Amino acid sequence: MYVLHVSTECYPAAKVGGLGDVVGALPKFQVAAGIRSGVIIPKYDTQQIRQFNSEPIKSGKINLAGNEVAYQVYKLFDEAIAFELFAVDIPGLFDRPGIYLDPGTGYPYGDEFYRYLSFQLAVLDWVQSCHQKPDILHCHDHHTGWIPFFISSCSMFSDLASIPSMFTIHNGMYQGIYPWENQRFFPPYAWDKIGLLDWDSHLNAMATAIKCCWVYNTVSKHYLSELSQSCRGLEPLFQLEQQKGIGILNGIDTQLWDPNTDPTINYHYTKTSADKKRSGNREDLLNKFHLDPKLPIMSFIGRLVPEKGADLVAELIPLLTSNDLHVNILVLGTGDPELHRRFLQLKEIMRGRFDCSLEYNESLSHLIYSGSDFLFMPSKVEPCGLNQLYAMRYGAIPIVRTTGGLKDTVVDMDEKGGYGICFEEFTVQQAMGALKRAKDLFDDPKTFHALQKKVMGLNFSWDRSAAMYTEVYQDLLERAVAS
Ligand code: ADP
Repeated sequence: MYVLHVSTECYPAAKVGGLGDVVGALPKFQVAAGIRSGVIIPKYDTQQIRQFNSEPIKSGKINLAGNEVAYQVYKLFDEAIAFELFAVDIPGLFDRPGIYLDPGTGYPYGDEFYRYLSFQLAVLDWVQSCHQKPDILHCHDHHTGWIPFFISSCSMFSDLASIPSMFTIHNGMYQGIYPWENQRFFPPYAWDKIGLLDWDSHLNAMATAIKCCWVYNTVSKHYLSELSQSCRGLEPLFQLEQQKGIGILNGIDTQLWDPNTDPTINYHYTKTSADKKRSGNREDLLNKFHLDPKLPIMSFIGRLVPEKGADLVAELIPLLTSNDLHVNILVLGTGDPELHRRFLQLKEIMRGRFDCSLEYNESLSHLIYSGSDFLFMPSKVEPCGLNQLYAMRYGAIPIVRTTGGLKDTVVDMDEKGGYGICFEEFTVQQAMGALKRAKDLFDDPKTFHALQKKVMGLNFSWDRSAAMYTEVYQDLLERAVAS
C-alpha cells in the first residue's frame, strides 16, 4: 500500500505546530508497519528546509485562469527521515521565510488562496505524471481541501478519480474561506458539481473536503463530537456527513521525545530517576529565566491566540498575588502581536514571578517540558493537543481545560486512576482554582512525585493510532475495489 500525505507542514522540514509533528511522525510509524508512506509539502525558503539535500524530480506548469505558473518538485534527503519526503517549489508563492505568517509583520501572507490552490494543483499534476500512483491520498487541513474535489470532478485529473481520499481535520477553526468569484481560478469541472464548492455563498476549502473525501477524521474523539455543535458555521455539514467521520487520537513520537536520550537537554532521566535527576533541567530553566526557585513553575507553550487561552493566561498573571497564589508562570510562544505587547509589559511588572520568550524555539520547548513542574493549557478549543502529551512524557503535570483532545487524554487526579488537574469553564476564576490545586499538589512532594511517575508511565505513542489509520486505509481500498 502506498499512501501520499499532502500537507503544509512536516517536521523536521516545516513545523509551526501539531500538524508538523503529526505529519512528521505518522508516516514514520506507517513505514515501520510495512506501508509505503510519502509526504509532500511546499518548498519554503526557510532554514529548516535548506538543511536538506535535494534533487529536482519533476518540472511542470499549472494554469490559474489563463496564467501559467511554473513549479518544480524536489525529493528531500535526510538520513534521519524514514519516509519519502517531497517539496514543491513554486517561485513567487512559497519561496518566503515564513510558513503562514510573514516574520516581518507577524501577520498572515495576503495571497493564501493562490498559494494553496497552486500547491494542490502542482501536487496533482505531479502525481498524475508518476509511474506509481498512490493508493490513498491523505490530505491534511484546509490547505489541501480541494484535492478530493479536483480528483472527483475535474476531467484533467480523471486518471486519479478512483484514488480514495482521506481528509484529516487538525483544526476546524481555520477553514480556507474565500470569495466565491475566486472559483474562476479553478480548473474546468463538471458543472453539476458546483454545489460542492459552495458554503454560505463562499468557497470554503474545508467544507468542500468534507463533502468530497471518502472519509474524514479529527485528531480526537471529543473534538469530532464538538464540531457538530460548534465549528464556525460548519456544524450542519458535520451533522449531515457524520457517517463519514471518525476520531483518531494523535500519538507522539516517543523516540524523538524521550527524556532519557533527548540531545537538547542536559540531564537525562526515566520515570524512576525523575525525582532526582530532573531537577538539573529545572535549574537550567531557572538560569535562563527570572523566576522564584522555591515556587512551582507552571509553563505555557504554544501559539499566542485566544483559541489556546493565551489571552486568559495574560489576564490571570496580574491577579496572582492579589489571589494569594504564589507560583511562577513561564510562557514560550508567538502569535497575536497585541498579546506579545501584553506579555512584555507583564514581564516588567511581575519580574521574578512571570517570564516569557516570545519566539519559536524547538529546543527551548524541550527544556521547558523537562524542567517545569506543570504545563498549563487553558485552551478554549483543542483538537487534540500534543503539548500535554509531551509534558507528561517529560514529567510535567498537565493543568488543562476539559475540551477536545484534552478531555480524551487527561483525567483529573481526584478521579479514579487520575493524574492531571482539570477545570471545566473558560474563566479566570476556574483557571485560578486549578492553579491553586496545582500549588497545593506541589507543596505535597510525596504525592507530587508519585503523580509525576504516573504520567511518565502513560503510553501515548503512535503505535495504536497508526494502526487505526491503517484499518481505515484498508477499508478504503476495499471500497475502491468494489466501486
Ligand atoms: P497547535 O494547535 O498549535 O498545532 P498542538 O498542541 O497540537 O498545537 O502542537 C503544538 C506543537 O508546537 C508542540 O510540538 C509544541 O511543543 C510546539 N510549539 C508551539 N509553540 C512553540 C514555540 N513557540 N516554540 C517551540 N515549539 C512550539
